[in-house]
Amino acid sequence: MPALQIHQIPVLNDNYVYLARDPDTGACACVDPAVSDAVLAALKDLGWTLTHILNTHHHGDHVGGNLAIKAATGCTIVGFADDAARIPGIDEKVREGDTVAIGACTARVFEVPGHTSGHIAYWFEDSDALFCGDTLFALGCGRLFEGTAGQMWASLSKLRALPDATRVYCAHEYTNANADFALSVEPDNATLVARADQVTALRQAGRPTVPSTLAEERATNPFLRADVPALLAAAGLRGQDPVAAFAEIRRRKDVF
Ligand code: ZN
Ligand code: FE
Repeated sequence: MPALQIHQIPVLNDNYVYLARDPDTGACACVDPAVSDAVLAALKDLGWTLTHILNTHHHGDHVGGNLAIKAATGCTIVGFADDAARIPGIDEKVREGDTVAIGACTARVFEVPGHTSGHIAYWFEDSDALFCGDTLFALGCGRLFEGTAGQMWASLSKLRALPDATRVYCAHEYTNANADFALSVEPDNATLVARADQVTALRQAGRPTVPSTLAEERATNPFLRADVPALLAAAGLRGQDPVAAFAEIRRRKDVF
């Protein structure tokens, strides 16, 4: 099976929209089009023909371009079945364990509630690519707008179990601020200290810090480490169960 060609489009203040194309068939998906203009312009520049929109959740900065792009391209819009009423123009309603075909490239759908009640992620195993919207960020995770800490911890644990080489295509460039917070939680994590330096250098050079790999996230992202003894010790949370520890770390980030 071929690997997807992935094109990253920075839009709005800090959103990333992705185009993911199967080179063999030319099928091409747009993940979370916040806007339409920049997406249609990128398609034209690349000479790619859009066949699908993949939405992770209903927020405006993820579905804002849906209807205009569908009108311009006739693409099929894929989203979470239980959130169909909040996904503009939805055609294909999916849930946990379903697969979505972009030509010969196949994504598996994970339900990952927490940021919103109906958040999903798309994992293209053969391309080592995870599109996780606002659930998992580089060095961070989404705010809990509609879900509980227990739901979000379960969702992040599901993503954390994917292979090391998985590239994490999240929907925002929040990594600099996330690194500052992560260092406040676990200042003596040498891998994190080194990564924070890399993040600073990339941003100073005007380059994206996304995607990262799941191996990097597991070693440095405090929200994936709520059951790791070194983090619990550093954060003064020794003996807490993972959900309670995760909830406390999330609370600290909200007021950081
Ligand atoms: Zn969101
Ligand atoms: Fe967002």
